[in-house]
Amino acid sequence: MRWLWPILLLLMSLPAQAGNQATLFESAVEIGQTDRTLALSEQLLYRADPDRTLTAPLIAATGHALEWTQSPDAIPNLGLGAPPHWFTVRLANTSPEDWSGLLEMSYTMIDVLDVYVAHGGDVIKVAEIGDQRPFSNRLLAHRNFLVPITVPAQDSVRLIMLGESAGALKFPLDLWRMPAFFDHDQHALAPQILFAGIMLALVLYNFFLLLATRDWNYLWYVLSMVSISFVVMSFHGILAQYAWPNTPALNNPVLVGAISTNIFSATIFAYSFLNLKRFARWVAILFLGHSAAGALVFMLNLFLPYAITIKLAALFSVTGATMGICTGIYLWYRGEVLARFYTLAWFLLLAGSVTITFSHMGFLPSYLIFTHGQQIGAVAEGLLLSFALAYRINMERQQRFQAQADLLRVQTEANQQLEQKVQERTAELQAANEKLREASATDGLTQVRNRYFFDEKLAHEWQKNTRGNNQMSLLMIDGDHFKSINDTHGHRCGDAVLKQIAAILNASVQRAGDFVARYGGEEFTILLCHTDLQGAAIVAERICRTVESTPLDWEDKTIHFTVSIGVANQLPSRDSHPQGLLQQADEALYKAKENGRNRVMLYTQNGITAYP
Ligand code: GH3
Ligand code: MG
Ligand code: MG
Repeated sequence: MRWLWPILLLLMSLPAQAGNQATLFESAVEIGQTDRTLALSEQLLYRADPDRTLTAPLIAATGHALEWTQSPDAIPNLGLGAPPHWFTVRLANTSPEDWSGLLEMSYTMIDVLDVYVAHGGDVIKVAEIGDQRPFSNRLLAHRNFLVPITVPAQDSVRLIMLGESAGALKFPLDLWRMPAFFDHDQHALAPQILFAGIMLALVLYNFFLLLATRDWNYLWYVLSMVSISFVVMSFHGILAQYAWPNTPALNNPVLVGAISTNIFSATIFAYSFLNLKRFARWVAILFLGHSAAGALVFMLNLFLPYAITIKLAALFSVTGATMGICTGIYLWYRGEVLARFYTLAWFLLLAGSVTITFSHMGFLPSYLIFTHGQQIGAVAEGLLLSFALAYRINMERQQRFQAQADLLRVQTEANQQLEQKVQERTAELQAANEKLREASATDGLTQVRNRYFFDEKLAHEWQKNTRGNNQMSLLMIDGDHFKSINDTHGHRCGDAVLKQIAAILNASVQRAGDFVARYGGEEFTILLCHTDLQGAAIVAERICRTVESTPLDWEDKTIHFTVSIGVANQLPSRDSHPQGLLQQADEALYKAKENGRNRVMLYTQNGITAYP
């Protein structure tokens, strides 16, 4: 029988409960002494009416028999998608004067708000307001819902209100004396205007930057700033009052549109601004997926009911914000400068939203700095991100400069290396060329200049000396009876003799510019620049005598040989040709052979003469 006890206890407590309900319902809030403001929210009794079975007169008459709840929070918050709720409170005025003032409902997003005043047996409907009703329904043109209230002296009235919202159903309710309200309102409106002004300036400024830079980040920034402004201004009833006072149907879809646009643009901004594509694929999927979700909610908002889309928007807002701030903190931890700005900006916006929530819940006093935390947060976010965008451009510019400098350095180094290589190659080539020229100008057997070189050199020297007054002499030297040396001692012996003659010739010319060449077979030439015929003759004679007295030792034999020399001399001129000099020397040589060999003959103007 133990299980009976709880039921018995429950049954016993029921009458007491009912009695408590009645006292709770009848208890009144004394307002007679209120000369500024009184928070009514925490005094409110409320109950759900999902099927709309109750009416205000019914509540006025039988309310004491119904079950009511008193809000555990300073402001009743029944959450998203709550059914319609009735709210009631009895206001007593024990003072000897009538009390009149304003009832203010500051949750501007409530769809439907019907306000009734019950006095004695009469129930008068005072207002049919709410953001789904035209602005003109309001008794006073204000972004919040205001209802004038009068409580006669030493009397009481009952407020009965029906609240309904497809979004959140919150019920912040205050009583104001007129002067206090106006004083408060002036201070509350200023931040709204300041907020709108700052956001407009930020949006326009960054929009122009978008046009100028064509940097997509500015588009995401502008979109997210416009949308957050719309969200905040929706929350504060600014749009409903100023933007479309006669089209209340816009209020809900615009809010969802603004939230979803913000989800879309803020996540894509984070993705692009923080350059998240460098990370794993799932990061991209998460962020771009959120962005796509925002876009999807925006579309759904066009034909699905607000009650559904606002929940989706709220869900993705929470996940998106969590994702963004976690990423920001992680990148900050990794030491990225841009992530600091980003995280701080997000943090300020979130802090602003948390502050206003805490203020509504009674954890924080209702100072303007707290109740406008969202605006302050959004402005701070906007300013910080705008600065971050500029900072980022500066960073990128510096990186570009650095890259350009690096490139330039690399190019310069490469050029220097190339230059050095070219120089080395050129030097090698020059050396090789020098060797080649040397080789091509030298006779292989005797190692004196060859005929090719001689012809070139003769033409060159001739040309060079036409301008001056320099005589040029030419010796033409031919081995005597050379054929017989070959025939008698062999060709190799002939070669050795040729080498010896070349060595003697080389030894007998010392002056720079003079040189010996093998002109062909056993014929040599010697070119003596700046030398007259007499000087050349002396050289020739000396050669003749040296060759004659320098026999070659060849295989146990001593081989004697001689040469004949023809000498010619000319003063080079423009009209003359070096060929003439050769011709003359050759003629003189011929004469030397004719006259018995082993001798020198000179070509002179008076004919060919013997020397000495
Ligand atoms: P001459 O006194 O009239 O000059 O008599 P020669 O025998 O020297 O006559 P010639 O000039 O007509 O003959 C040249 C000879 O020199 C022919 C050739 O056998 C020889 N000779 C030419 N070039 C070389 C060479 O490179 N080596 C050798 N061993 N003999 C050569
Ligand atoms: Mg000859
Ligand atoms: Mg000869």
